[in-house]
Amino acid sequence: MSKVDPRTYAAPENALADRVILVTGAGDGIGRAVAMACAQHGASVGLLGRTLTKLESVYDEIVAAGWPRPSIAQMNLLKAQGPDYFQLAKSIEKEFGRLDGLLHNAGLLGQMSPIEQYDVGTWTEVMHVNLTVPFVLTQVMLPLLKESADASVVFTSSGVGRQGRAYWGAYAVSKFGVEGLSQVLADETDQYPNLRVNCINPGRTRTSMRAAAYPGEDPGILKAPEEIVAAYLYLLGPDSKDVTGQSVDAQ
Ligand code: NDP
Repeated sequence: MSKVDPRTYAAPENALADRVILVTGAGDGIGRAVAMACAQHGASVGLLGRTLTKLESVYDEIVAAGWPRPSIAQMNLLKAQGPDYFQLAKSIEKEFGRLDGLLHNAGLLGQMSPIEQYDVGTWTEVMHVNLTVPFVLTQVMLPLLKESADASVVFTSSGVGRQGRAYWGAYAVSKFGVEGLSQVLADETDQYPNLRVNCINPGRTRTSMRAAAYPGEDPGILKAPEEIVAAYLYLLGPDSKDVTGQSVDAQ
């Protein structure tokens, strides 16, 4: 692990210049903040998400700020099929010929419930969006990532993906899976000096997912998504070049 503390990393102004970075769940919460920060630091960002109006609002803010023009990929990850992923890879290949960063951020909370009563349909949906989609999307994008001089894949974990906790059900289990997926892929790509694979745990952050998990909590005590982007910029940028197979805390 490098000596940099990702939580306090100060990204140089043009840290992500000329990088092409795909962010899932880019329309809201943490994904929105990270997509904006990546663009601010010079990246061309692919904004992937479910709700077009949210993606368009991020797009407009990036363009208005004069940062590199992003692109929008509207996709419901619960419903997307093989051809949708291949189409996405094809359009990135056509436009850029490579991919330098892939942030798997989109996630579903599902229900807070004991395993004994956990709804099987909800379980399947949460596992699909949180774990199977990052696997499929990574698999489809690997050829493009290998074309990059310095590619970074970042999976989003959680505290409950490292230590199980009652009632977190499929969400917690999917995040354990994400940690495992990241470790397996990091080990498999060890021989590629231009490709690294890590996990990030954002920590408790003021978003709608957090509010759904803790409805009684005062959101004022939480950090805003914009306040936790340093570790993301670190993992997606050149200063983490030798870091792979790690699980990093954003707070
Ligand atoms: P939000 O609910 O605020 O944002 C989640 C994003 O994922 C939204 O943009 C949402 O799109 C998108 N998304 C959800 N389902 C789909 C789908 N089927 N297809 C496409 N996009 C989808 O959550 P956070 O920002 O809080 O969470 C981001 C990541 O961080 C998640 O992986 C979460 O598990 C993780 N995390 C968050 C913590 C926190 O305290 N906030 C703590 C630990 C981990 P739309 O806006 O259209 O619904």
